[in-house]
Amino acid sequence: MSQTQVLARKWRPKDFSGLTGQDHVIKALTNALEQKRLHHAYLFTGTRGVGKTTIARILAKALNCESGITTKPCGKCAACIEIDSGHFVDLVELDAASNTQVDNMRELLENALYAPTCARYKIYIIDEVHMLSKSAFNAMLKTLEEPPDHVKFVLATTEPQKIPITVLSRCLQFNLKQIPPTLIAIHLKYVLEQEKISCDEASLQLLARAAQGSMRDALSMLDQAIIFGKGKVEETEIHAMLGTIDQTYLYDLLEALIQKDGARMLAVADAIEVRSLSFDTALQELAGLFHSLALAQIVPQAISENVPEHEKICSLAKKFTPEDLQLFYQIALHGRADLGLAPDEYSGFTMALMRMLAFAPESSSENITVSHSPSSIVPKEKLPLFDGKLSKPDINTTHASPPALNVVTALSLDSCTNQLNSDWAVLVNQLKLNGMAKMLAQNCEMKNFSTDNIELCVQAEHKHLLEKTYQDKIKKALSEHFGKPVRLKLSVGSVTGMTPAELDTREKQSKQLQAVAAIETDPFVRELVDNFDAKLIISSIKPI
Ligand SMILES: [Zn+2]
Repeated sequence: MSQTQVLARKWRPKDFSGLTGQDHVIKALTNALEQKRLHHAYLFTGTRGVGKTTIARILAKALNCESGITTKPCGKCAACIEIDSGHFVDLVELDAASNTQVDNMRELLENALYAPTCARYKIYIIDEVHMLSKSAFNAMLKTLEEPPDHVKFVLATTEPQKIPITVLSRCLQFNLKQIPPTLIAIHLKYVLEQEKISCDEASLQLLARAAQGSMRDALSMLDQAIIFGKGKVEETEIHAMLGTIDQTYLYDLLEALIQKDGARMLAVADAIEVRSLSFDTALQELAGLFHSLALAQIVPQAISENVPEHEKICSLAKKFTPEDLQLFYQIALHGRADLGLAPDEYSGFTMALMRMLAFAPESSSENITVSHSPSSIVPKEKLPLFDGKLSKPDINTTHASPPALNVVTALSLDSCTNQLNSDWAVLVNQLKLNGMAKMLAQNCEMKNFSTDNIELCVQAEHKHLLEKTYQDKIKKALSEHFGKPVRLKLSVGSVTGMTPAELDTREKQSKQLQAVAAIETDPFVRELVDNFDAKLIISSIKPI
């Protein structure tokens, strides 16, 4: 057996208490088991590696342990041991991805009619159940409608939306969450301690983040890391293995961004290129860092003090406004999406950096600064900024500025959803709100509106804002605004992305683009650029 399988298999939880990050599911399941309220079909949903089939097997043991139906299967009886080793005759595990045909399902269901050979229940675990054909689902539905008492179905899927509603409605559904990096790191640390392998905290954080919510991926990567580091787990080796970017590069970039020092930003990009590190990863990590900074501003306790860069993050967070961070985060995401379209990755990456400079809302220098002589640590062709100044203080965006585009109106033409959203954006600005309540309102979209009943929806990534106190403040502000009591319903759900916060960002970006365009097309500026080898310092342009 290869080393890569060892840890994930060896440390696969054998009972509910060993599971990480799925407390809500465990609680519901143990309650049901304790009260013997047993359903005949369970559906576990969630992304790969979060524990769906692991929970399914533990449930199989809980139902069939010889000590009785229990929340704590003994692990010692024949049933427990055979389920753990995958040899239990009354447990059938089926991968729907390779058994999509109706014939397989019919055969399986015919067998289901017979009583279990030796166990209390015959258990069918069907993984990736959404892959079943329509006729296979129909065959299954008949059994689900009138299930024999001795049969339990445990279904698992990464894509519940592909399961027919008729099947969904007959299952008790549990949604497994992606496991937070902090919990993954704690588990990896535990495993390494048991395995007596040394490691540093930074490595654990890197692995935990790279696993993107999947414990199985985290353990597989840990296996690789152990081989890679010849029995040790060290930060530099992990960077090399994952192709991740040493955080010092990212901090350098942010410091340069704060200073509006374009040359320094390019120098970092050059260093990343020289080391042959991935620009895609660099943008991903940069977005991750902006996310951490935004968290540090709004919910400081969300940044664990165990994270090695805790202090650095907290101090950097004070140097950006929340709006800046939202904008830079977006630019990093879009830059990453555009990377494949860029002339080359270096251009794509540096363009994203320059966009951050160009769109930085605050500017330290006045109006426009142009220069004759390049002098910098990076080659000329990669220089967006020159350091000298040529005074022409009167240039500003009033020159040849096209009529301002009303972003809100333009966006609202598409559909009535957008109309609701732009109405909401206007309304939010009129409400007497501040602080977190305002932030919540700005990150909502309007789903339904009448003057006494308003439904708002917030994206999952902002659900930490859904505190009752903030909701109450919004409700109060709405009631005051309309001069009568307003019923407010706030939920987490999918949004189109046209929140007031997003519309605001777009409007700022649009104004900034117009300002840049106006300056770039200014005849005097063009002449300087063409005849004197001058260049624009984009970061110095701001709309008026
Ligand atoms: Zn047992």
